[in-house]
Amino acid sequence: RFDVVIVGAGHGGAQTAVQLRQLGYAGSIAIIGEEPELPYERPPLSKDFLSGDKAFERMLIRPESFWVDRNVVMLTGRQVTRVDADGHVVFTDGGEHFGYGALVWATGGSPRRLSCLGHDLAGVHGIRTRADVEVLKTELGATTRVAIIGGGYIGLEAAAVLAKLGKAVTVLEAQPRVLARVAGPVLSEFYEAEHRAHGVEVRTGVTVVSVLGEDGRASGVMLAGGEIVPAEMVIVGIGIVPAVAALLAAGAEGGDSAPGGVDVDDHCRTSLPDVFAIGDCAAHDNGFAGGAHIRVESVQNANDQAATVARLLTGAPRPYHAVPWFWSNQYDLKLQTVGLSIGHDRAVLRGDVAARSFSVVYLKDGRVIALDCVNAVKDYVQGKLLVEQGIVVAADVLADAATALKAHHP
Ligand code: FAD
Repeated sequence: RFDVVIVGAGHGGAQTAVQLRQLGYAGSIAIIGEEPELPYERPPLSKDFLSGDKAFERMLIRPESFWVDRNVVMLTGRQVTRVDADGHVVFTDGGEHFGYGALVWATGGSPRRLSCLGHDLAGVHGIRTRADVEVLKTELGATTRVAIIGGGYIGLEAAAVLAKLGKAVTVLEAQPRVLARVAGPVLSEFYEAEHRAHGVEVRTGVTVVSVLGEDGRASGVMLAGGEIVPAEMVIVGIGIVPAVAALLAAGAEGGDSAPGGVDVDDHCRTSLPDVFAIGDCAAHDNGFAGGAHIRVESVQNANDQAATVARLLTGAPRPYHAVPWFWSNQYDLKLQTVGLSIGHDRAVLRGDVAARSFSVVYLKDGRVIALDCVNAVKDYVQGKLLVEQGIVVAADVLADAATALKAHHP
């Protein structure tokens, strides 16, 4: 039995243990993780780890000695398959069981798979774990053409890396534009143009019908209408399925319908006693999304929700209310976003798109709710406070890139 059992050795799970010890928590802590590795950073998987520029060892969230020194027991290579919420016990696939005082569910999710014919052929990959990328990399030598299904951040980052590695890349996006779920049209058009300038074929508004195969391996993707996009490798980046089956089976509220995951309150408590959920798998009412019930898939959210749980468990509770932020690296473009643009009613452009340094400021009812900043670190840093406090700034004033955003700070 451990005082705190954390399920999921990813960003949120690791950060929960880090924060608990930082706040002086003296109880016993164990982290149970399905992957064999110690907790590592996931963002490089589609960026410099995929390109080969970053070694895995440099992605560890903390070195092994950190966990040993702080007496955090790492139980990796084990999947929790059942939760007895009344008995406060979790069970693993290997037949072990561990009692808990508090349970923190930080399991993220697995890549959503295609449902069409050919989805399980060799050469079809998702990108979520180190293992996913290691396997993908071993196949790159024999690959000249890659089809990427899904024009979200992960798909576009992978496209940028693979184009730079000399592969012929086609991005297939069902929506009329890439990044449609997370950004406004200005950003989408910009990234589409950048990818095309780097030789990537970007196809929007297309429907994938099946993955075609030869001898059990992917050979192409068929689109509605019968067109075939030839490809020896298919990367699927169409979102995740939160890994919450065991928790739902134990009676936690949540479910399959959007946003999916497990429902939590503003202290990350699930409906089960002493059970918390954080990170990608936790559906919560987000103050920076107008209170909408959503899941946020970002390092920021996982880390800040981890801190929320740690504070509650150490007797200094503070509700979760953290400004969302995110980043994406493609080619030499550094995108930094702050806030959530969903629900905006106006988008203002600052800076020069042609010079590849600009920001899009999203407004709702006159208030700044989000910024997407491309090679524009200053706007990102100075815009954060505008989002945090929902400052009202006139659109024409925001559009004046000669005036720093800090001029609008209260
Ligand atoms: P994870 O970090 O996914 O950790 C969950 C862990 O739980 C996994 O190791 C999983 O194997 C394990 N697990 C699942 N089920 C069980 C079980 N039943 N028993 C035991 N263990 C289990 N975010 C950004 O902010 N910026 C970025 O640039 C960015 N880039 C990304 C690029 C890629 C390729 C990916 C995949 C994600 C990226 N993200 C990025 C998102 C970010 O990595 C996630 O939001 C973050 O990892 C969420 O943390 P988490 O703790 O909720 O889940």
